[in-house]
Amino acid sequence: MYRKISILFLLIVSQVIYSSEDVWGRVGHQVIGEIATQNLSPIAINQINKILNGQSLALVSTWADEMRSNPKFKKYAPWHYVNMPLDENYHESNKNPKGDIIQAINKCIEVLKEKNSTQEMKSFHLKYLVHLIGDIHQPLHVGRFEDRGGNDIKLNFLGNNSNLHSVWDTRIIEYFTVDYKSLANELMGKKKVQVSLNPIDWTNESKQEVKKIYSKIIGVDTISLDYVNKNFPLIKNQLHKAGLTLANILNNIFK
Ligand SMILES: [Zn+2]
Repeated sequence: MYRKISILFLLIVSQVIYSSEDVWGRVGHQVIGEIATQNLSPIAINQINKILNGQSLALVSTWADEMRSNPKFKKYAPWHYVNMPLDENYHESNKNPKGDIIQAINKCIEVLKEKNSTQEMKSFHLKYLVHLIGDIHQPLHVGRFEDRGGNDIKLNFLGNNSNLHSVWDTRIIEYFTVDYKSLANELMGKKKVQVSLNPIDWTNESKQEVKKIYSKIIGVDTISLDYVNKNFPLIKNQLHKAGLTLANILNNIFK
């Protein structure tokens, strides 16, 4: 009986995990949280510890995805991405009246900078900010509307059913990475890159990459090991950049 219940429970849990399809997988977000933490100023560390009651950025980085199955959080679903035609930039494109990742990031920054924001508001918006700066660096989060950022492009990934979004969010990272700390450490050994404080710049960079990703997938129905090996360096660059960007933004808010 208990065995049956626990098997059922595992099935439900795995359904929940696999239904959160349009996200950097856990590992990607945790890597970004860890890199950011190692690049925070002492003032920022202090303030963030107070807001998060000592929880790490890596730990809270996936909270926004974990809440997606909660009906109360349905209205925040558009916060995780922005879709636009490949030949338009953000300014030219029609905005989603329900919000998008750029509006959401700006909102989070505004709430965190506001002296009168309550502890609860700060905690909510900080957890979202940590997550969304990750999402915006995943190129498929600024993908096309008609295929829901690659979610509707079904592909076989090394023998398993998957889709283009999931390949870039999760599959390639998990193919190479067992734990987030080792990947974060590897990336922190790289030369630091200059990053912008403007979300539009991050969007434009992801946009350049997503165009290439779409063009190289035409006519492809199986992701090969060669594809995985060729594209992991770009994913690593994006994770590294996202971590440094998150640190810069937080150091700029808490000073
Ligand atoms: Zn997300």
